[in-house]
Amino acid sequence: MTRLRMIAGPLLGLMLASACEDVLVPLELPAGSREFVPEPVFKVWWQQIEICSGRQASFDAVSWYVIPGETPFRIPNHDYDVVGFWDQVANRIVLLEILPDRRAPYVRHEALHAILRRTDHPDEFFVTRCGEVINGPESPG
Ligand SMILES: [Zn+2]
Repeated sequence: MTRLRMIAGPLLGLMLASACEDVLVPLELPAGSREFVPEPVFKVWWQQIEICSGRQASFDAVSWYVIPGETPFRIPNHDYDVVGFWDQVANRIVLLEILPDRRAPYVRHEALHAILRRTDHPDEFFVTRCGEVINGPESPG
């Protein structure tokens, strides 16, 4: 099993890389990044986004990571720095540990990406349907 994996691993990686390098490989996280267990309020924010978008996705299927520090970072295919992103391949949400101000809008924004399973920002969802919800209050209710 171990031997098979050693052979299959690099081959599979090569196939994926040649098929579509940018899309199929999870983004590499900076040193010091770590997974965390989302607080209960994250699930409430997630549900708010499910309601406004009219779409549903598994909250539990997403893994959450923080990047230490407070410096916005660059990810592939973006010509600007970000404080968070949703990784389509790994289905994980990565956030800067120290966000500029309120956390909820950033978490809800990334949740909307994860729920829609797309990395772009269609106005229908990010503005019309969920714009106010994304920027709404931190505490639910
Ligand atoms: Zn976004």
